[in-house]
Parts: sequence; structure tokens; C-alpha cells
Amino acid sequence: MRGKGAPPKHPMDEFTLINQLLRPIAGTRSDVILGIGDDGAVVAPPPGEDLVVVADTLVAGVHFPPQLPAADIGYRAVAVNLSDIAAMGAVPRWATLALTLPVANETWVSQFTQGLGQALREHNVALIGGDTTCGPLTVTVQIIGSVPHGMALTRHGAQPGDAIYVSGTLGDAAAGLRVAQGGDVKSATEQFLADRFVRPTARVALGLALRGIASSCIDISDGLLADLGHIAEQSGCGARVNAAALPLSPALQANLAPDKALMLAATGGDDYELCFTLPQRLESTLMTRLGADSNCKRIGTMGLDIEVVLLDGDDNPVSISGRGYLHFK
Ligand code: ADP
Ligand code: MG
Repeated sequence: MRGKGAPPKHPMDEFTLINQLLRPIAGTRSDVILGIGDDGAVVAPPPGEDLVVVADTLVAGVHFPPQLPAADIGYRAVAVNLSDIAAMGAVPRWATLALTLPVANETWVSQFTQGLGQALREHNVALIGGDTTCGPLTVTVQIIGSVPHGMALTRHGAQPGDAIYVSGTLGDAAAGLRVAQGGDVKSATEQFLADRFVRPTARVALGLALRGIASSCIDISDGLLADLGHIAEQSGCGARVNAAALPLSPALQANLAPDKALMLAATGGDDYELCFTLPQRLESTLMTRLGADSNCKRIGTMGLDIEVVLLDGDDNPVSISGRGYLHFK
């Protein structure tokens, strides 16, 4: 359905969009028997592997500012799904795209597919099908990956005493969203934060390295304490997080007062880093597997009580920016 405004400069029909803009970025893989163009795609799963299926929808104005560049929207729509695949310890293989557009503006769509294609190519994922409809801007990507039978990482295997780790730095994307919304980037550190929101890095290689050693894993989309809360709840234990151990980027520290930086690191969403647990006896195995340039850091220990708490150096609960003590059930 068209809006009431001026007609788009380069409206295109659905088939032109599919054939001229989507087919060229679809990529090829030997395990795609039939890709875009038929009623369904046909793929060949690797023998002996379990399939891991994820999907995430981005709605304009809800999950990203509507004025975000089209290439960034395309990139991000794939990256957030790759992050779920990473959290499961899977290898991403195939993607579908359900695209709802208010108007099929050729310039916008070609930039969108450029960003989408870049994210797919970075992980050798083939676009094998989808659907294209008219309506408020909404992008749903589904990715299918695989993992050796029984090896998928889950949220439910953590045990009291397990070490808690996170990858990368936390709070950047929440700060970066504010920069992206403002539309006016004033410094290199603000640009870094904005990029962390619009172009998240899915930790696919880390997910693979955690197979067989992590007792649980989740990607941080809603904020560390909330997402760690899912691990705690589904594992039937609690988590004690050391506030001073939370990894903060120099850019976050340059732009925010220490208490605000801590609040975003603990509760800000959209970082798409991995949070995982493992038995302490496997910490040296983890370090050997990840190598010296690992970006993973221990931030706490799983506990007995069904509660996630943020603690200072004296084991007292930390109060953040007048929000009171942070307790998550
Ligand atoms: P059908 O009417 O049988 O559902 P369509 O005409 O919707 O088929 O789609 C034609 C082909 O183009 C199908 O293979 C479909 O998977 C693919 N396709 C449609 N939209 C997209 C999209 N947004 N991204 C990738 N492939 C798409
Ligand atoms: Mg059909």
C-alpha cells in the first residue's frame, strides 16, 4: 500500500526486485540444491548434524531508527540472526528474507541488499528464498545452521560454581543507539559506539570454540543482567557478577560518566556479545582454545540462589544511577 506522499522516484515491481537485487547477492553453496526461484528452496543438511533454526524481525521505529541508512539495516538484520546462531554453537548455512516495504524504491533497496549481502558473505551464508510484501518497513531474516548431533549450546546447562564469561565490551550499542538516533556523530569514539549498534559483530567463531566446554551460552541482546537471568532461570541457579570486571570500551568510558557506563554495560541491550558459563576446571582449556588474543573475560560465578546480582569488590550489591539495587530474578 502506498502512502499519501510524493510517488517514489524509482518504484520497481516485485520480480525486478527479486531478480535484479536479491539474486545477485544470494551467494552459492554446494549444499543448496535449489535456491531462489521456485516455490521452496531445497538444501542438503550435513549427515549426522542437527539443524539450528533462528529468526529475528526488525521493525522500523521499534528496533532501529527509521532514518538509519538502508545498508546498515540490511547488515544488522543478518548480524542479529548470526548472533543467535553463534550462541547455539552452530555453523550458519542458509538464510531466508521476509521483506515488507512501504514503497519499492530502487536506490533504497539496492543499498539494503548491499549491506545484507555483505553480512551474508562474511559468513558464507546463502540466501535461498523469502517473501516480499507491501506495508510498514519490516525485515525478518531467518538463518538455518547446523551443529554435530547433540553439541548445540543451550541456556539450561549452567551449574553453581561455574565461571561466567562475556566476549567483547558491554554497553557500547546502547550508547551508540543514542548517537545513531541523534544523527550527528561528533567524534571518533561516538562513531565507534554508533557502529557497535548498527553493525554488530556476531561471535560465530567463538560459539564454535565453546562447543563441548561451555555449560551454557546466550547472546546479549536485551542487556547482560537480563540475558544472564535467562541462563540462571533455565539452569535453576543464580549468578553473582563482579561490577568491576565488566569489560568497558575506551569509547564508552570517554563519553559517559562511570556510573552511566556501568549501568549501560549491565543493562543496555544490542551488544550481541556472547555470555557463557563453564566449569572452573575447564577455564585453562578455554584459554588454550581461544589463544592469547582472546576477547573473553571472566565476570563472575554462578551461585545457588535463583537470582542475578551485581556486586562490588566487598560483595555488596551495587546501586546504579539511583535505580536502586539491581536484582533480577
Ligand atoms: P510464491 O508466490 O510461490 O510464494 P514468490 O513469487 O513470492 O513465490 O517468490 C518467488 C521466488 O522468489 C521464491 O523462490 C521466493 O523464495 C523468492 N523470494 C521472494 N521474495 C524474496 C526475498 N525478499 N528474498 C529472497 N527471496 C525471495
Ligand atoms: Mg508458490
